[in-house]
Amino acid sequence: MVTLKDYQDIIGKKNINQIKSLALLSKGKKVVMVNSTKDGGGVSEILHRLVPLLNELGIDCSWKVIEGDEDFFNITKNIHNALQGDKISFSNEGFSQYLKINKRNAKNLDLDNADIVIIHDPQPLPLRNYHSGNKTKWVWRCHIDMSKPDLTLWKFLQKYVMKYDCSIFSISKFSKSLPHPQYLIAPSIDPLSDKNRELDENEIKEVLKPFNINKDKPVILQVSRFDRFKDPIGVIDAFRLVKKEVDCRLILAGGLASDDPEGKIVFKEVKKEAAGDPDIDILLLKPKSDIVINALQRIADVVIQKSIKEGFGLVVTEAMWKEKAVIGGDVGGITIQLYNHRTGFLVNSIEGAAYRIRYLLNRPEIAHKIGQQARNFVTQNFLITRHLRDYLTLFYILDNPGQNIIYI
Ligand code: UDP
Repeated sequence: MVTLKDYQDIIGKKNINQIKSLALLSKGKKVVMVNSTKDGGGVSEILHRLVPLLNELGIDCSWKVIEGDEDFFNITKNIHNALQGDKISFSNEGFSQYLKINKRNAKNLDLDNADIVIIHDPQPLPLRNYHSGNKTKWVWRCHIDMSKPDLTLWKFLQKYVMKYDCSIFSISKFSKSLPHPQYLIAPSIDPLSDKNRELDENEIKEVLKPFNINKDKPVILQVSRFDRFKDPIGVIDAFRLVKKEVDCRLILAGGLASDDPEGKIVFKEVKKEAAGDPDIDILLLKPKSDIVINALQRIADVVIQKSIKEGFGLVVTEAMWKEKAVIGGDVGGITIQLYNHRTGFLVNSIEGAAYRIRYLLNRPEIAHKIGQQARNFVTQNFLITRHLRDYLTLFYILDNPGQNIIYI
């Protein structure tokens, strides 16, 4: 099992000791993380490593998942989409169902004995409403792109957010007018997980064998859930523009998350768009395809994440860690990862994406240099150990509000 000490070679002993000292200040605290799925998407990706590390440091941290039926997850997916700016009209019945399922979960989850409850994203947001004890501190951790939410929906949800002791957003642009403190914590990747650890050539070959990937031409890759905000059709359009000048292949790889019923529909749309094109591979990944994603990111010549809304974009960080010069949509959390010509490229259109793909395919030395800078940037800013430090700081601040310096 991976322990904190294993990260020492990457971040140094001093940083490990700092994390340990910070953890002593919250030793024994009971912390509960709540989200809506154990598999699929960035939140579960982070919690799988963060929760064990917090426990290793003496924090009594558990992870609970709310349960709901298909109707509930259809509503919460619509809420997710509308918070990211889609125009969707909600019925009163829809809202009642959303609250009813949360109320039922509140009864089952036993959150009253926790010192700190951290609720991830809008699906379990109303849980706070059904607990009245003063002892517990409630934190709403919003991972999605809230730069331009549907205002009617936000007005409805704001009432529930206001009941929390604080909120956390990934970038300042997502913060809102709220009566409590708002903190910025960027997400992170685990460099030692199967998704990100080093793989040698033989392992890569072995892992990708079942997919029959042809490497006769440069490979462009996007990995993401089949979600319209990830713009898979836009990636195909950009690829077709590139193909007019440079011969290459495209791989769109992704799975379906249990809390995202829309995924199957989008997958079909993408399959249809790519049908008959021998240079496009659409790979439907099973849950826990971590090594496959790792291998794909390593063999790709160009990695793209052409999102049109993005809370953060862990896939961008993952590829940067593998020294790829990533091309990303100029939106949300991608903008704090990719800096043009330094750590990657931001694009605003299909034409822009095609231009940057061609640019990188034709300039492998530049792509290599940007890739190295990208990895360095991730090491400094987006590893799980930094995330751990931020959460430990938050735990302390919740008990000691207003303190500017923490003595450890
Ligand atoms: N991912 C995965 N399987 C898939 C698609 C994505 O494991 O089929 C992972 C991906 O590698 C990343 C996370 O899920 O770690 C997605 O996080 P991101 O922030 O990029 O997007 P989200 O899905 O949370 O919107």
